[in-house]
Amino acid sequence: MGEYNLFLVTGSLLIAIFSSYAALLLVKKMIQENKRSRKGLWLTSGSLIFGAGIWCMHFVAMLAYHLIMPVSYHPGLLFLSIVFAAISSFTAFLLLNKKVITSRVIIFGSVFISISILSMHYIGMEAMRMQADIVYNLWIVALSALIAVVASYAALRIFIYFSFQKNSSAFIGPAISAVIMGIAISGMHYTGMASATFDHSAHHAVQDVTGLDQNTIGSIIAIAMLIILSFVFIVIFYDKKMALANQRLTMTDQLYRSIMDAANDAVITTDGNGAVLSWNKAAETIFGYGKSEMMDQPLSVILPGYELSSDNDKQTLVLKGKHKNNKTFPIELSFSSVKNESQLYYTGIIRNISERVKQQKKIEELVYKDPLTNLPNRRMLNEELGKMIHSASNTGQEVAAAFIDMDRFKQVNDVYGHQTGDLLLKAMADRMSHLLKYEDLIGRQSGDEFIILSPASSPFQISTKANAVLTAFKDPFLIGNTEIFMSPSIGISLYPQDGITADELIKHADMAMYKAKELGGAHFQFFTSEINDEISSKMKMESGLRKAIMNEELEVYYQPLVSIHDNQINGVEALIRWHSKELGTVSPADFIPLAEETNLILPIGEWVLRKACTQFTEWKKSNYMPGHLAVNISSIQFKQEDFPQLVRKVLEETGMPPHCLVLEVTETVIQDVEKSLPTLHSLKEMGIKLSLDDFGTGYSSLQYLKDFPLDIIKIDKSFVQSLLISPKNQAVVDMIINMAEQLEMEVIAEGVESEDQRKYLATRESIFYQGYLYSPPLTFEELTSQLVSQSVQRLAE
Ligand code: C2E
Ligand code: MG
Ligand code: MG
Repeated sequence: MGEYNLFLVTGSLLIAIFSSYAALLLVKKMIQENKRSRKGLWLTSGSLIFGAGIWCMHFVAMLAYHLIMPVSYHPGLLFLSIVFAAISSFTAFLLLNKKVITSRVIIFGSVFISISILSMHYIGMEAMRMQADIVYNLWIVALSALIAVVASYAALRIFIYFSFQKNSSAFIGPAISAVIMGIAISGMHYTGMASATFDHSAHHAVQDVTGLDQNTIGSIIAIAMLIILSFVFIVIFYDKKMALANQRLTMTDQLYRSIMDAANDAVITTDGNGAVLSWNKAAETIFGYGKSEMMDQPLSVILPGYELSSDNDKQTLVLKGKHKNNKTFPIELSFSSVKNESQLYYTGIIRNISERVKQQKKIEELVYKDPLTNLPNRRMLNEELGKMIHSASNTGQEVAAAFIDMDRFKQVNDVYGHQTGDLLLKAMADRMSHLLKYEDLIGRQSGDEFIILSPASSPFQISTKANAVLTAFKDPFLIGNTEIFMSPSIGISLYPQDGITADELIKHADMAMYKAKELGGAHFQFFTSEINDEISSKMKMESGLRKAIMNEELEVYYQPLVSIHDNQINGVEALIRWHSKELGTVSPADFIPLAEETNLILPIGEWVLRKACTQFTEWKKSNYMPGHLAVNISSIQFKQEDFPQLVRKVLEETGMPPHCLVLEVTETVIQDVEKSLPTLHSLKEMGIKLSLDDFGTGYSSLQYLKDFPLDIIKIDKSFVQSLLISPKNQAVVDMIINMAEQLEMEVIAEGVESEDQRKYLATRESIFYQGYLYSPPLTFEELTSQLVSQSVQRLAE
């Protein structure tokens, strides 16, 4: 070894190792690379660097060897040596470009690498120009080849082992195998040098030393080394970055997967033709297909009839999805397309909206359907009428609205209970529905009110329909075992003459229905402007009446009841007066029926009773005995269960003695025997007297006169006023008086206006009368002064 410069020997070894390392890193990249073009790049640069590395190693090793003579090199052969090395290492590395690498491949690979090393060395030796010949010992040459093959085999084996190991560091494998490869190259070189002897004998003349001298080669080597090293560092840096990016990619990939699997919506990816590429857990649940079943399957399996198109990008569509069990269900779908290197992909998010659709339907039913009859409800009727009006306004046709209210339906509820009432409503709805044409619409407005809407209907057509409804109600309804007869009252309004909005038409049909009821029910009535006037003045009255007590517009008048023989005041009847600020003085004959209809009679009646009792006790305190106080009681008041308690309370509060109070009731009150008898009895028990008002005008039955605890009968003024005109009426009045006497009841004749009437009545004993003849109803103050003068008169007598 004395002939070698040790420093340069070490240098050559390091060059061999470093260049192998750089080459192997590039080969590893080639193995991992997916793109063909880049694979080629890694392969070519790897083999060039390997070739250059061996070349550099060779010449540094030659510099390390002390030759006695000057040497130069043949540039052509030098070039050839590097080309040979590069080509055979290219072949070796190309063999490694496989997914699975067998031992055979490694053997072939090491043979090619050895060829590259050997060819470089021996062509490099041939390129030497000096004053000597080279003689080889063939045994040692063979040994050098063997070293090259064995060592490069070991190097490749290790390299491959580490390259396919998953968790190994990116650099360890190439590093270890680079060291062995360095040993292979160097071992081959120095053994190869040992096989050569330089024979000076043949060349004595000065050799032609054209070629590259040692200095030039040194510079080339230095530059080549620099290039190799910088390559190594670039690759290392790049690889680190790639590793980091790769790590991030797998991280985001895992994250994406876990999000996809946790999602409630199906997330599906397909290729441009709609073949499924990814299928998450929610997709399995929604469509019933497992991931393996759907992979590569066309999207039409789950979305029949849907065509993928990038036009649908980011739009949300509602479609039918198909489950594995062949059932379809509503879905919401949004697809977006992604273009990746000329390949088109689609990503779809699919949501099962069955529940939502169900919920929506339910809400719609709640909003638009009457749950009892399943007919459209008030809201839907209103909206539909609006639509009919709209189209009629374009075609110039008429629209009819028929408002139907059942007569005395309340009685059904009262008598048979609400369950029967509900069944009856259903039965009536059914019967009416069957009468209608396709374009007609029947709905339930509320309670026992129905509305029929009939587009393009003339007055004649709608009256035919109304008649059909009336006829249909001629037969009874069989509910359970009960036959119930019902009759409807129908009011009709027409677009455009009776109103141009849905609200107006329904309101006017309602008014006409009201009129039909007034006329006795079981009847239909068209809306007219007279009905409008009547009802609107009624409505005005109602709203005024509601405020009458609060506004102190009510007053109690009193009409004396006097003895027919001596005109002595025997009592007074309280009669209400309403001094309305808006309507002037309104007669009770006008507003009492309205107050009864609206139940306003309850507070008004209570107010009258209290007021009259209070004022009566004031007369009593002053000793102007007006005898008794008569107060009119409406049948509505009488029907209140707590009516006797109310009377008792008022008596207590006002200090009114019960035996001075007479309650006047009409025949309608006592018609409902079962209900009224207990009330009448409990009033009697309190000591209150009962009087039957307007006798002879109502449904007079002699039966109840006998059964009811009545004290007084008031003969209606219509009989009194026609006493002297018709002898028949005289007979009626005589008969009433006789009967009352028999039943031991007091008799009062109402409405006595003339002396002749009084005289006729005076032929009978113990009769009282009431009428303009003696006095009209008076205010409290007026009557007080009359009572005063009467008592003064009595005192004078
Ligand atoms: P009614 O109880 O039969 O009262 C008698 C009506 O005849 C009173 O009419 C009275 O003013 C009127 N009248 C009295 N004498 C004559 C007469 O000589 N000739 C004529 N043509 N009429 C006479 P009014 O005050 O207009 O009351 C009408 C009806 O209103 C009453 O008839 C009664 O049924 C009802 N009413 C009045 N006040 C009340 C009340 O406070 N409560 C209830 N529920 N009804 C009342
Ligand atoms: Mg009366
Ligand atoms: Mg009367």
